[in-house]
Amino acid sequence: MKANCYIHPTRDGEWVCPECGNAFCPDCVINRETGGYHGQNLLRCCPSCLVPTSWVGVSGSMKPFWKRMDKFFTYPFHANPLILLVTIAFFSAVLRGMPMGWLLRMLLSAAMLNYAYLALRRTAQGDLTPPKMYDEALTAGVGAVLAQVVLFILLGVAGIFIGAQLGGAAMIIYGIVVMFFLPSMLIILVMDGNPFRAMNPASFMALPFRIGGGYFIMWLFLLFLMFAPGSLLYLVSEYVPTFLNEFLDGVFGNYYMLVAYHLMGYVLLQYHSELGYDIDYEDMKDSDKVSVVKADNRATEAAKHTAFLFTEGKHDEAIEYISRYQALEGEFSRELSERYFALLKIKGEKDKLVAHGPILLDLLAENNAKAKALDAYGVCMGADPGFSPEPGALFKIAGWLAETGNPKGAINAYGKFTKSFPDNRDVPIAYFRAAQIFNDRLMNPKKAKSILTGLLKKYPAHDIAPKVKNYLQHIGG
Ligand SMILES: [Zn+2]
Ligand SMILES: [Zn+2]
Repeated sequence: MKANCYIHPTRDGEWVCPECGNAFCPDCVINRETGGYHGQNLLRCCPSCLVPTSWVGVSGSMKPFWKRMDKFFTYPFHANPLILLVTIAFFSAVLRGMPMGWLLRMLLSAAMLNYAYLALRRTAQGDLTPPKMYDEALTAGVGAVLAQVVLFILLGVAGIFIGAQLGGAAMIIYGIVVMFFLPSMLIILVMDGNPFRAMNPASFMALPFRIGGGYFIMWLFLLFLMFAPGSLLYLVSEYVPTFLNEFLDGVFGNYYMLVAYHLMGYVLLQYHSELGYDIDYEDMKDSDKVSVVKADNRATEAAKHTAFLFTEGKHDEAIEYISRYQALEGEFSRELSERYFALLKIKGEKDKLVAHGPILLDLLAENNAKAKALDAYGVCMGADPGFSPEPGALFKIAGWLAETGNPKGAINAYGKFTKSFPDNRDVPIAYFRAAQIFNDRLMNPKKAKSILTGLLKKYPAHDIAPKVKNYLQHIGG
């Protein structure tokens, strides 16, 4: 079941609301603390109905496995798996040819299989980091290893039986078929735990069809991975001592197994909704995608709720909602303020636009959002030429207007500044800048001079006075 975010049609909807049935992306759901867990667990709530939603999985939003091949190769290169696979290969090579060595070697292989199987399971559950060597699930995993051994033995016995009954050619065909379906069987084994059910053709033959082309790609990759290091080693085997050959063979074998099991786990994760495999959101430890999510504050909640109303085209309702929010909470976030402003603009609510302008401009100026601030300032000025933001924002905007090739607008803004906030400590600087614009940009040295002389008269002891005198001489000359 795949749906897109109700608000962002190009994004996957990961959270579905039980009330309205809409799906939402992670940015659209409202994050609320469950309480008692110190913010560890969050409830993802519907931005419309405000009720907790349920997770429908990551299938759609995950990177497909063929786009992260490099990660599969590097998976064993972490301390835990690397030490394990090298150690096991080393002791296996040492034990070769010793009396009773085969028994110990079998146990070592079982340990490796156990670890790989846990890696598969963890990956399938969304944890893409290799398991620790002291992971308690490893000691509890005897059943899992046994299940796999049983599966392998059953497959082997069936092969021998087919060979004996139908001859060598039939056995080779059987071998090819088994190789093609073995990943399918292992995936079913992880989901189900029962080796006999994994060997049921109705199950293992259906799985590749449910996955589709992805299964074939995975299979080719596994095949390549199996033969590449093997043939490389075969080529050099003549030139290396037996022990080293044995050891390297073990290292490659273990490495291959880990990569292969990790890949199979990832395929299960990627296609979990097609395969009906349940994954808990809290188990996801995917370094690729999960970032730390905090509970939303009231302003963010309000912005998300407004975004929903906006998508529905309920502009009046959204404006009313924000007005009520403002009366109750007061605090605006930049996101909420921008949305409110956009709504007021659409509805042509000039009075409210001009009234909200200073709040938005403060937030934009604070974040140095130049283009947006100039745009909003222009909208407010269009609605009411007498409009004025707060002094801090107005001073910044005047500078930005000058910077962006609007000298007249800048002079108007500086004029507004000196008139509306005559006691502000930046007033002399505003005069000075206005004079500079008159002289440099508007080619009006007369006006510049009159402003500067007035400035010197009014603030003779100001820090800027020497600079002003210097500039005056420059014009006068
Ligand atoms: Zn809902
Ligand atoms: Zn969204």
